[in-house]
Amino acid sequence: MGVVALGGTIASTQHANGAGVSPGLEASDLVGSVPELAEVAVVEAEGLVTKPSGDLEFSDISLLYDRLTSLVERGCDAVVVTQGTDTLEETSYALDLLWARDEPVVFTGAMRNPLRTGSDGPANLLAAVQVGAWPATRGRGVLVVMNDEVHAARFASKVHTSSLSAFSSAPNGPIGSVSEGRPYFTVELARSEPLEVPDEWDDSVELVVATLGGGARILEGLASTRPSGLVIAGFGGGHVPRHLVPVIEDLVAFAPVVLASRVEAGRTLESTYGFPGGEIDLLSRGLLAAGGLGALKARILLSTLLSSGASREAVERSFRCCVQRYDGSGAVDVHR
Ligand code: ASP
Repeated sequence: MGVVALGGTIASTQHANGAGVSPGLEASDLVGSVPELAEVAVVEAEGLVTKPSGDLEFSDISLLYDRLTSLVERGCDAVVVTQGTDTLEETSYALDLLWARDEPVVFTGAMRNPLRTGSDGPANLLAAVQVGAWPATRGRGVLVVMNDEVHAARFASKVHTSSLSAFSSAPNGPIGSVSEGRPYFTVELARSEPLEVPDEWDDSVELVVATLGGGARILEGLASTRPSGLVIAGFGGGHVPRHLVPVIEDLVAFAPVVLASRVEAGRTLESTYGFPGGEIDLLSRGLLAAGGLGALKARILLSTLLSSGASREAVERSFRCCVQRYDGSGAVDVHR
C-alpha cells in the first residue's frame, strides 16, 4: 500500500511566523503517527508536494498520476492520497477520469489539523488505508474517504467549511461506509472509459458563476483572452441574466461553453424555460449541458478533454453522454 502526501490540513504544523498552521509534515510523519496502519498493510510513505491544496495545479495531477502508476507497477495493491480538502473534489475527480487500473486510489484529508483536540487526520488516514486494503475495493476507481464515509470521486464535493462531515455526494449519497475496520459498499458503479492523460495541461478553462445583475465585466474580459473553453454555473436549472447572452454567444463561436448550475444538487434543465438566457435559449445557441455534473467537475472534465486535444465533436459527445449519465435503476453509467 502506498501513501502519497500532498500537504493540506492533515499535514499541518504551526506556521513559522506563529500565526496559524500550514502544511509541513511529510508522508512518513503521517504514517508514523498511526501505528495501527501496520496491522492493516505494509505501507510505503511517499512525499510528492507539501502545499495548501489551493496551490495545487494541473501539473501536480500529472505528477500524482505518474507516482501512483509507478507505485502500482512496483507492486502496491492500492494507494492512499492525503491532501487538503479545499480542492480534493477536483483533484480526485481529475484522477478518476484518468485512472484505468483496478488498484484503488483513495483520497483523504482532515478538517481539524493535528494540533487540535479531536483531529480527524489519523482516523481518516486509517480508514482510507482500510478501504484501500479491502479486497472488494479493487476495481472501484478513485474514492474519497472522510469521516468513515466512502464516496465515489465522481460525486464527492466539499459542502461545509469546518464540519468533520464536510464531504457529501448529494443527491446520490456515499457509496459505502467504514465500520470496525472495513468498508461496506452499498452502491455498485460502472467504471468509465479513461480519458487520455494530457502531456501538457491547458489551464485556460475558467468557471464563471451567474450572479444577480453581474457577470458582464468578467465574461467580456475573459472573451478577450480567448480561453479554450468555459463553464458557466448558471442560476437554477441553467440560466443567466439576459444581458449576458450576446457575450456568451461570442464565446461559443470560438470555444466550447458548458452550462452547469450554481446550485449544489440537481440536473441542468433542457426544455422548461423559454425566456432569453434560459436553458432552452442557451442550449439552442450551442452551449453544452453539464446534466448532473456539478460546475467544478464540469470544468475539470472540459479541461482534461481539451488538454488532450479532444475535438469539439468529442467534447460535445462527452457532455451529451454526461447528460444521460443515470439510467434510472440506481446504477450509474458513464460520465461521457
Ligand atoms: N482547509 C484545507 C484542508 O482541509 C486546507 C487545504 O485544503 O490545504 O486541508
